[in-house]
Amino acid sequence: MSVNVSPLKNLVGDTWVDGTGDTREVIDPSNGEVCAVIREAGEKLVDEAVGHARRALDSWRQTTEFERRTLLRSLAGLVRRELEPLAQEITREMGKPIGEARGEVSKLADAFEYYAEEAVRVYGRTVPNDSKNVTSIIRYEPIGVVAAISPWNYPLELIGWKLAASLAAGCTMVLKPSEYTPSSAVRLFGLLSESGIPAGVANLVLGAGETGRALTSHPDIDKVAFTGSGPTGAAITRGLVRALPVSMELGGSCPQIVTATANIDDAVAGCLRRGYRNAGQICISINRVYVSRQVHTEFVDKLAAAVRRLTVGAGIDDPDVGPVTNAEIRDRYMEHVEDAQEKGATVLVGGSTIDRPGTWVEPALVDNVSESCLLATEETFGPVVGVTAFDDIQEAIALANNTPAGLAAYVYATDVSEIFTIGHGLDFGNVAVNNPDAGIMNAPYGGRKGSGHGYEHGPEGLHSYLNIKHLRIRY
Ligand code: NAD
Repeated sequence: MSVNVSPLKNLVGDTWVDGTGDTREVIDPSNGEVCAVIREAGEKLVDEAVGHARRALDSWRQTTEFERRTLLRSLAGLVRRELEPLAQEITREMGKPIGEARGEVSKLADAFEYYAEEAVRVYGRTVPNDSKNVTSIIRYEPIGVVAAISPWNYPLELIGWKLAASLAAGCTMVLKPSEYTPSSAVRLFGLLSESGIPAGVANLVLGAGETGRALTSHPDIDKVAFTGSGPTGAAITRGLVRALPVSMELGGSCPQIVTATANIDDAVAGCLRRGYRNAGQICISINRVYVSRQVHTEFVDKLAAAVRRLTVGAGIDDPDVGPVTNAEIRDRYMEHVEDAQEKGATVLVGGSTIDRPGTWVEPALVDNVSESCLLATEETFGPVVGVTAFDDIQEAIALANNTPAGLAAYVYATDVSEIFTIGHGLDFGNVAVNNPDAGIMNAPYGGRKGSGHGYEHGPEGLHSYLNIKHLRIRY
């Protein structure tokens, strides 16, 4: 066990400083032991961090895109150098298998590299005017100081999307990571000065909702970039002190539709990856499957066999499924499984907690889930998938759309007409057909309806940190 008894520090300007509020222990979910300690940064430190970000903005926004590209590339190189210790921090604090944690750190470096290049591709344009000797120039300028809040399920990648795009755009930032996963963020921000990124451009404050509230309701921020749950997103929106740009990457409850023409082995493999990876703690996890009654038995039998084969263990041993990150997830998993049973569903695999120190549940598969079940209406954010049979495609689309969620959906079908009908009919921001990966770095990624608004990834992810200026010149 490695217990860091002294609380982790906040990065404010060029100085690592102690928080002043309540102390909070960070628990290793694989054994229930304390693995780090933080103190709530609180209002005063948040105010100082925002002040540093504001002062750093003057010179940072004047750097050329090419200078910012060089600095982001440098940061990417340092992240690759530190891949193993960063991955170990992730696994210790939130439990994911170490192989997945290494993959996450590698994708963090990819994000810095991608936005390093994208920085030099922000092109304005000139627009014709109806009067002679007048020209209109459309140019993009950094929004300013960004208040960023991230969750624990991808502790570094979700910081990286915000940090990379905002720094590439010429913005400065104050970031608060999840209180469950502060250590990897501290280690990442520890690389900033070596990368050459000037002090104050990116600041780190630690804590839970109290510090998050102080940051997102601070009067001197220019944008809020939030990833987390819907209720927290709504609370942040209510707490804004003035109208300002906000991006909200919120929770999902993601459906998979499997038609009678689908390759069932592919559909099963897709569901296994996207339903149980990271113990189901992914915003784009498959929560609910709508499968054609014609192939229902084959699909469920094959999926049940595959779920039974999943290995469960401590993340450091690189199993298929690690512990769930906290008691809230464990309890919601049980609530959703029990609710489905009470409403007539059949638990085919798993469905119980595992009795050992830490927070553990069995990967579960539930069949005959009705429309009123929590499994069909809410995000579980744990390793459980609910299956429902359908008779026609319009019914499947209606069932898939019938929740507040609009983040990602998955379709398995080989008939072209089915693919287009379902692909166009699904009310989701990301639809993956015959593959389980709804997001790639260079395409926009975002939700709709209750899953939020705004985009990360792709040029759109960079543009969400830019203001447009129309410069109309008569000469
Ligand atoms: P959460 O909403 O509980 O917490 C997210 C962050 O908000 C944490 O840093 C937390 O400390 C902070 N916070 C809490 N209250 C706050 C307040 N009042 N003001 C400001 N900040 C506050 O979410 P979580 O449990 O950390 O993450 C899981 C959720 O995130 C799931 O719903 C998941 O689907 C969602 N998520 C969405 C995406 C996406 O891209 N759409 C990606 C990952 C996770």
